[in-house]
Amino acid sequence: MPAVHVLPSADQPSAASMGGSGVGYRLTEDQLMLRDAVRLLADERIAPRAAEIDRTASFPWDVKDLLATHDVLGLPFPVEYGGVGGDLLAVCLAIEAISRACATSGLILAVQELGALPLLIAGSDDQKHRWFPDLAAGRTLIAFALTEAEAGSDAAAVRTRAVREGDDWIIEGTKRFISQGDVADLVAVFAATGSANQRHRNLSCFIVEKGMPGFRSPRVEHKMGIRGSTTAELAFDRVRVPAENLVGEEGEGFSIAMQTLDRSRPGIAAQAVGIAQGALEAATRYARERRQFGRPIGEFQLIQGMLADMDAATEGARQLLYKACTEIEAGSPDAARWSAMCKLVAGDAAMRVTTDAVQVLGGYGYIDEFPVERMMRDAKITQLYEGTQQIQRLVVARSLLGGPD
Ligand SMILES: Cc1cc2nc3c(=O)[nH]c(=O)nc-3n(C[C@H](O)[C@H](O)[C@H](O)COP(=O)(O)OP(=O)(O)OC[C@H]3O[C@@H](n4cnc5c(N)ncnc54)[C@H](O)[C@@H]3O)c2cc1C
Repeated sequence: MPAVHVLPSADQPSAASMGGSGVGYRLTEDQLMLRDAVRLLADERIAPRAAEIDRTASFPWDVKDLLATHDVLGLPFPVEYGGVGGDLLAVCLAIEAISRACATSGLILAVQELGALPLLIAGSDDQKHRWFPDLAAGRTLIAFALTEAEAGSDAAAVRTRAVREGDDWIIEGTKRFISQGDVADLVAVFAATGSANQRHRNLSCFIVEKGMPGFRSPRVEHKMGIRGSTTAELAFDRVRVPAENLVGEEGEGFSIAMQTLDRSRPGIAAQAVGIAQGALEAATRYARERRQFGRPIGEFQLIQGMLADMDAATEGARQLLYKACTEIEAGSPDAARWSAMCKLVAGDAAMRVTTDAVQVLGGYGYIDEFPVERMMRDAKITQLYEGTQQIQRLVVARSLLGGPD
């Protein structure tokens, strides 16, 4: 019998690539209660609104208020600043439960977390005291503005500039595709403060407040899915921002943005898992009720095969997501890989599961009398934002092979 290697050697995979630090997860009583409570809230109060939110493509302020009233928007914020102090898994459980009913509504919590993460990661105590209590209570909303027309996947190519003038910074430029940018009270804006050849030391992060002269949202996009989540262009016409609104140090912006995405991508994976679960349940219900050839279509093995694959894909994505949350929360040095992997797998699962759900419903899947066509349109965005699936693969491959940042 060949010897079993017990000592790591240079050509063996690292612990990270073999399943992480060994940190396991099991949902705690509190997490289970949270998941069930949010699911009930979503079933009773959000699901009945989902089709209308999609049809009218307007931001659902009533759902925002509902999530605020039930402290769901407080989950990402520390208790000392008025938040609930939920960990990453708790936030993702809530996003998943809401997205199962309505992906637009799940994104309200995901974006509140995304926008606040630069402050959570690099904000001063003063900044947290100043902004977190209102954000945690859902009295205010915050957005995250990195993307520009010429800076999508290549985030370091940002052209919006911030120039120091006395005690202030003057911001000039335009951001594109900013979720909830037009309805937010605060926006974490990434602007160039150095020179282009500094690349990853070129950006800084600022909090721009609604009402600051020169800051406006000239347009909102017309979209395929998540139609109630407004996607805004933001214009900064010499916006004067006080120095105390700089988040972290000058030049730290790119690093803050990347650390933010490492923690926020699981939220998009959670949205994807929620969408897939919603579609699976709708298709299963339909397969029980719809009769063709004198019996329920669920009795046909080809339909059963599709449902089984949908269930396995959804559950597989969910387990990877929960594991990734646990690894990231435990401070894994491989956080970027876990975060990218769970979004990659969950986004692809959501796309496939929702497409198959439409197939299970046949022609009825294609019309808006049933929710699966909306879910299929909503699923697509999870393969695109917070880094496309191609970018997630690059992140995972870089973790395996090494390479430039
Ligand atoms: C609805 C919506 C909401 C959004 N919300 C926000 C938000 O709140 N804040 C924010 O800052 N941004 C937001 N975005 C922007 C989003 O993150 C970007 O659209 C995304 O990162 C891709 O950038 P891009 O659209 O410019 O595509 P591009 O970068 O132009 O990519 C085009 C294609 O090329 C591929 N590609 C690019 N580079 C590589 C490479 N190196 N290797 C292989 N393939 C590559 C991509 O995968 C893609 O298939 C949002 C976008 C949408 C559509």
